[in-house]
Amino acid sequence: MGFDGAGWIGDNVIMKSASRRRSILGLCVVPALLLAACGGTEAPSGSSASSTGAGGATISSGSTGGASATTGSAATTTAGTGGDPGTSSSSSSSSSTGGGPMGCTGLPLCDDFESAVAGAAPDATKWAVVSPSCAGTGTVTVDGTVAHSGSQSVKVTGKGGYCNHVFLANTAAPVAIGKLMYGRFFLRIQDALGQGHATFLTMKDTADGGKDLRLGGQNQVMIWNRESDDATLPVLSPTGTALSVSPSTQAWHCMEFMVDGNAGLMQTWMDGTEVAGLHEDGVPTPDIDQQWLNKAGWKPSIADFKLGWESYAGQDLTLWFDDVALGPARIGCN
Ligand code: CA
Repeated sequence: MGFDGAGWIGDNVIMKSASRRRSILGLCVVPALLLAACGGTEAPSGSSASSTGAGGATISSGSTGGASATTGSAATTTAGTGGDPGTSSSSSSSSSTGGGPMGCTGLPLCDDFESAVAGAAPDATKWAVVSPSCAGTGTVTVDGTVAHSGSQSVKVTGKGGYCNHVFLANTAAPVAIGKLMYGRFFLRIQDALGQGHATFLTMKDTADGGKDLRLGGQNQVMIWNRESDDATLPVLSPTGTALSVSPSTQAWHCMEFMVDGNAGLMQTWMDGTEVAGLHEDGVPTPDIDQQWLNKAGWKPSIADFKLGWESYAGQDLTLWFDDVALGPARIGCN
């Protein structure tokens, strides 16, 4: 188990432990089929987004979000590359203005943190600052020193230890959007993700006993984690870990995700490129989503959206979020 152990132990103090065994079991399954499997499965859910991947450059399809989805399926392998520039427009047919903040006008949640007061809490009409179950030393404030758009972002001074967790939380948007939800936010981390398990995005899943669906880090890369059974996506094997990525420090990165509660699927992009290890496509693939799919019938019903820091293994991390949006279709990074 090597370094994995550190995270697991820290996590177990707070959370359950049984499911960790599953992670361990999954460790050494290393089929060479992986790459093929990944490439092949990107298509279905890549849909709307990957359509633009091929061209990347433009957005001629801007007004036809639906239509572009079809072509997206065909684009498959290139899903990653140029996808970023185009995608935004596909979903923003109504808000296709390029200027100003990142396109998200009119979406159920869209915040560039420009309207709030630096040093204070984020806009209370959109966000509550919460520390579920227990509260400690983590803080959330609007910050006027670092910004992706405009001159402000939201800063999370994250502290190690579960109860030091803190989040800015929105509950209205996920409920309004329903079962198929896309998110986009820009993330900047001061220091690298550590070996131990931590979370920077977490969402309550009422279809999973109210437990959270969490995106964060472990093994120094990004992972999804399901609180109810501690399953991870990818599996934390060497192969699985290598199929994820980590945002570089002190730079803004565009994070995008899709959660499909109808079909029980998830997909994730960083800077417009899909992350193979963070794609749960419904077909069990060793080292990627086989462990996740061990839980039969997983179909999340997301009831809130929380950005912040929750560190089970003790890592402190200061991080910033900006240009946060949630919607029913892929939002993109522009
Ligand atoms: Ca901003």
